[in-house]
Amino acid sequence: TLSDRLDKVFTGLRGKGRLSQEDIDATAREIRIALLEADVALPVVRSFIASVKERAVGAEVSQALNPAQQIIKIVNEELVGILGGETRRIRYAKQSPTVIMLAGLQGAGKTTLAGKLGRWLKAQGHTPLLVACDLQRPNAVQQLSVVAGQAGVDVFAPAPGNGVGDPIAVARESIEHARRTMHDVVVVDTAGRLGIDAELMAQAAGIRDAVHPDETLFVVDAMIGQDAVTTATAFQEGVGFTGVVLTKLDGDARGGAALSVRHVTGQPIMFASTGEKLADFDVFHPERMASRILGMGDVLTLIEQAEQAFDTDQAEKMAGKLASREGFTLEDFLEQMLAIRKMGPIANLLGMLPGAGQMKEQLKQVDDRDLDRTAAIIRSMTPAERLTPKIINASRRVRIANGSGVSVTDVNQLLERFTQAQKMMGQMAGSMGMPGMGPMSK
Ligand code: GDP
Ligand code: MG
Repeated sequence: TLSDRLDKVFTGLRGKGRLSQEDIDATAREIRIALLEADVALPVVRSFIASVKERAVGAEVSQALNPAQQIIKIVNEELVGILGGETRRIRYAKQSPTVIMLAGLQGAGKTTLAGKLGRWLKAQGHTPLLVACDLQRPNAVQQLSVVAGQAGVDVFAPAPGNGVGDPIAVARESIEHARRTMHDVVVVDTAGRLGIDAELMAQAAGIRDAVHPDETLFVVDAMIGQDAVTTATAFQEGVGFTGVVLTKLDGDARGGAALSVRHVTGQPIMFASTGEKLADFDVFHPERMASRILGMGDVLTLIEQAEQAFDTDQAEKMAGKLASREGFTLEDFLEQMLAIRKMGPIANLLGMLPGAGQMKEQLKQVDDRDLDRTAAIIRSMTPAERLTPKIINASRRVRIANGSGVSVTDVNQLLERFTQAQKMMGQMAGSMGMPGMGPMSK
């Protein structure tokens, strides 16, 4: 794997803690091989490596990770970023029906996807209509009817026995039909060919012009590998699309096609298909794809653990110093809040004591929901962060917010309140002649 090879590159560098230009160049070679092995197209590999190199040169030197891990972390972050950061949702039309057109080569998985989308949309409360515009293959209409039946959604198809129908006319009629029958989303299945072909593109463009899709999804087989770039480019020029669906991710492909298609077309990957059954389907997750392309989900976990362990290490070192100086930590803050909850009415009495006005304010803020959220936030922090809140920078705030299911603003507010409480504890300790007084619960 990439990790093994990078370890080799960095033999002897462990503990050096700084990335030199030679280190970065040698690493770039290994990343290049890993990406090519994952079937990422060459021009995409080149430009990707250029941006990783740029970041590696300017990177802050991490003390928690060895150089190989540090670079893998950068590569992974960069990959996740390019693959889309967060998932883009379907854009529904202001006026029903929303039209979703599927395009792609034969065998890519369009008809199967129509069924999957139908099932998925239905589960979200929509009433989708699947439209059979592949009138090329004898069984195509039948196949769509079968998946529609499995999904429990309606299908619109030319009446059987009418000879070879006109897919563009069917497409046009289907929109009228959907309006009449109150279907709010129309999924248009189209024909594909084994290769890129002018006639196919003309037909797809004709259907597009007949239905004015709100979303055109380019469906691509993840096993297609290096060919992804040519196919995606041809469809982008011939039909145009607003999103990508990767299929057959249950196969052994490393998924380089994802990076290639995303890179050359700039369009987001929206869904992933992972099997023949209608339920084998999900919105696209960039992080999962990134670790698949790198072939090292485990290594990424190890990297996270290494960073956590380092934090703990730091925490222990800090603990000694802190105990004497800023005795009041976030951990104490949490304990204090929990203690106040237990005290109940006594807390109110305490608030009436002269000179405790500030505390009264604070006590008012303590309600249960608030407390649960505060506890969740503090528990999402590493030990080092709890002991030394100063190290909680922007990216740590984002991580803590994600970890505890709150917004970054909530984390900011908590830290602000903590700082106030810390000051107050300091004042009280000072006036009572008790330097370094711990939390009131102790
Ligand atoms: P179309 O020609 O683009 O409409 O492709 P189909 O929907 O007919 O799919 C072609 C074949 O691929 C069928 O045998 C499907 O069952 C299969 N297929 C589609 N999506 C997936 C997937 O995500 N995983 C696997 N293993 N097979 C799939
Ligand atoms: Mg089909």
